[in-house]
Amino acid sequence: MSLIFIFILGSMIGSFLNVIIYRMPRNIDFIFKSSHCIECKEKIPFYFNIPIIGYLILRGRCSKCKKPFSIKYPFVELLTGLAFILISERFPIFSMPLEFIIFSSVFCVLLCIFFIDLEFYIIPNSLNLYLLAVFILKSILYEPLEFWLSGGFIGFFFPFLITWLYSVIRGQVGLGMGDVKLYGVLGIFLGPLGITQNIFLSCFLGALIGGSLIAIKKLDRNTPIPFGPFIVLVAVFQIYFPQFFKKYLVLF
Ligand SMILES: [Zn+2]
Repeated sequence: MSLIFIFILGSMIGSFLNVIIYRMPRNIDFIFKSSHCIECKEKIPFYFNIPIIGYLILRGRCSKCKKPFSIKYPFVELLTGLAFILISERFPIFSMPLEFIIFSSVFCVLLCIFFIDLEFYIIPNSLNLYLLAVFILKSILYEPLEFWLSGGFIGFFFPFLITWLYSVIRGQVGLGMGDVKLYGVLGIFLGPLGITQNIFLSCFLGALIGGSLIAIKKLDRNTPIPFGPFIVLVAVFQIYFPQFFKKYLVLF
């Protein structure tokens, strides 16, 4: 019963994340405006806003103009619902509410960064700032000062230096400042070793996937690839599956 409750809670929040992912990079007010079909501006009735089920009832199409909605919407709702179940297994919502709120909200923000950067090549400052605030709070509560200060320092200045050198030598921007800031805030959570792992693995993953896409001609060599999704992917494993990370990916 409580699992169903937590899944519904997660998928409802996932539904709100869809709104943020769509509206934040477009600078549309996401609290007070109601949902509309992107194509025909038809107002979406509230009962179709029910996570996942609403999408299924509509069979993934607008009821008026029949334009398909992106599969991304139910996917984000499903993923958030499942993530909330997983997080509540480790931090039960009623007995460890603070930990549950920290870990679930961080997941939500990382998910938004993933999809916004993938589409728009930006990481909104407000999302990085939220992570910064939560990670500092969590670190003050649970970690020694040198752990998170050194992690944040490495996370910010190492990628910053690489990006700066790259721009001096090649005259191109390697990483965006949003990526550099994301590494910095993640360093506060992950500490010096964790963030070093993340920098290496996300760069490896980015080169692997970017290189493969260029090789099969899905991507032009000069097209920039968004880097945030790779950082997020590695960070999600480090934060939510630390045991997996220790078992299979011991690099240091
Ligand atoms: Zn429509």
